[in-house]
Amino acid sequence: LDKKVQQWKYTTCGYCSTGCSIEVGLDEKGKAVATRGVASADVNRGKLCIKGIFEHELFEASGRGNRPIMRNKPWDAWQPTDWDTALDKMAGEIKRIQSQHGRDAFAVVSTGQIMTEEFYTLGKLVRGCIGTNNYDGNTTLCMASAVSGYKRSFGSDGPPGCYDDFEHTDCLIAWGSNLPEQHPIIYWRLKEALEKRKFPLIVVDPRVTMFAQFADIHLPITPGTDVVLQNALMHVILAEGLEDREYIEAHTTGFEALENCVKDYDPITAARICGIDEDTIRNVARLYAKAGKAMSIWTMGINQSTHGSDGVVGINNLNLITGNIGTPGGTSLSITGQCNAMGTREWSSCSGLPGYRALENKEHRKEIAEFWGIDESFFPEKRGMFMTDILPAIETGQIKGLWLVATNPMTSMPNTPRIRKTLEKLDFLVVQDAYQDVETNQYSHLFLPAAVWAEKTGCFTNTERRVNLIRPVVTPHAESKPDFWIFSQLAKRFENGQKIHFPETPSEAFDEMKVLSKGSKRTLDISGMSHDLIEESRGIQWPYREGMEGGKGDPRLYTDGVFQYPDGKAKLIALPFIDNNERPCEDYPFWMNSGRVVEHFHTRTRTGKLGNCNKFSPTPYMEMNPDAAMELGIKHQTYVRLVSRRGDAVVLVQLTQRVPRNMVFIPFHFHDCVNRLSLGLLDPHSRQPAYKQCSVRIEQT
Ligand code: SF4
Repeated sequence: LDKKVQQWKYTTCGYCSTGCSIEVGLDEKGKAVATRGVASADVNRGKLCIKGIFEHELFEASGRGNRPIMRNKPWDAWQPTDWDTALDKMAGEIKRIQSQHGRDAFAVVSTGQIMTEEFYTLGKLVRGCIGTNNYDGNTTLCMASAVSGYKRSFGSDGPPGCYDDFEHTDCLIAWGSNLPEQHPIIYWRLKEALEKRKFPLIVVDPRVTMFAQFADIHLPITPGTDVVLQNALMHVILAEGLEDREYIEAHTTGFEALENCVKDYDPITAARICGIDEDTIRNVARLYAKAGKAMSIWTMGINQSTHGSDGVVGINNLNLITGNIGTPGGTSLSITGQCNAMGTREWSSCSGLPGYRALENKEHRKEIAEFWGIDESFFPEKRGMFMTDILPAIETGQIKGLWLVATNPMTSMPNTPRIRKTLEKLDFLVVQDAYQDVETNQYSHLFLPAAVWAEKTGCFTNTERRVNLIRPVVTPHAESKPDFWIFSQLAKRFENGQKIHFPETPSEAFDEMKVLSKGSKRTLDISGMSHDLIEESRGIQWPYREGMEGGKGDPRLYTDGVFQYPDGKAKLIALPFIDNNERPCEDYPFWMNSGRVVEHFHTRTRTGKLGNCNKFSPTPYMEMNPDAAMELGIKHQTYVRLVSRRGDAVVLVQLTQRVPRNMVFIPFHFHDCVNRLSLGLLDPHSRQPAYKQCSVRIEQT
């Protein structure tokens, strides 16, 4: 047998949101020694990317937390402790901070990495027992603009499209997405569709990414100006009468204001701002509107911007005026980042209450309070701070204590020199993570070792709303515990935790979520699912209502043209462009762009430990245009110092035509690198930072 595998165990990949079904091979001692894709799975059909192929190595990777550890001050030595003492200490500190400074003085920032049932349980704990309103997820750094844009356009979060749309579309625009490196298996699905049936592939990206190299048309846009391009495309479509009038009249509101707004964005004016020539704008507008079915996908190039939410609404506007929502091949589809960023949006309560319910809605507060058995007045009446507001509130002394669950802001937040000083101000910082050596743990008072991914049970929802099951393939490392267990045990230490029932198992938590999801008008309906059925079907898309059969959910939302606003209509929203980015100038003449490489995931807490991922991508580097390098006398494979208004970083130069003369690109995964330089101005709707629109200068070392 391959690598002495005695048994293959089914589970789901724990990195990106593609949702690949995998099997982990165990040897005769029960050690994980191999990973392979599941051929019968709809999503990946047996394929995996490099991260998935070596995922079994994670269980015994270096840096795992063995047991809870505590210390009085971050400069003291760690003291090992037991779980009861650690959780007593944590509950005591939370109560102390809340009694001295108010309930909201303790904040919680979670993740997109844990199971949906764990998110639901954490929400119950934070909203129902601890009672702080300053609770958010690190998804504010990645998908918040998509969430905000969907809500503004359609009245609810939830991606309308699916991977199968690639098989039906007649034209695809990818906005700020380097699919072959970010989501290789989704890219492979798209490539398969293109091999069967050719259709135009248009990639909008300031950099000549791998995806741009495969495109029929590459639009090297000026950073942060997507809204201008979108308005210009709509200008051409409306000026040439290519819109779908019937769809607009039947299913949308706000057309007149949108029409008036895009009048100002004729291709000649737009070209001057967004850097795409007028003829190309006209050509792309005609291709998209006349295609038959057209779809747009996007990732961080849109979301991580001061116009992130507007960029998503702009994509939805374009699709709504051309009748491309809810039909096979005609759709908007955000390509999500983390394996369960969708699950946190659906069930964690970090932006509201479970099941896409809002704190601002009295009926929603009442429903959940009754279901949990607590007083409705315990809930705040509007959501609290986003992650990107919680950290500045530590600086001002508003927040005194912080609990980080599987997130590593010392590497992932913009302007990390400032984040370091911020974390040093906390009275009490808890880091809960599978890895004790995450950079942020240097500043903590308590570390809770969590089980990793397939050491536990639960679900992830992928990019296309498919709920996948994670079965444990090995037992948790040392004394680490599933996050589900940690949340339930901590709850018992709070007054409301004695009143609220906390499920004993993830499957019981799933049953609670099913009850809360039921409703004829609800899109997020999982009432027909069970853990066993999800495993049997290798994933089920929601909605999957009670009574549905066959283990196949609805692949698309809004197929009937009825949206989630009370009038059932989608909103067309006028988006005048305001240029508010930090731009290159005399002192800092280069745009600084950032993104992923295929070998690494997020801040390398996992992939940084895997031999093969490190072998192919061992060190941070900076892509620089050879002409710009020649002007500055900079050579290939030498080190330079990059300087921004926030800080500096030393990086290795890679000369390449992938970037224009006035831009450098750096992978975002590495500690003490690109985020020492980034600014991260916030989108006003989503509070997501603009990582990719900053300016730097280059100095020889
Ligand atoms: Fe895992 Fe994503 Fe790679 Fe699939 S594409 S194997 S889900 S990291």
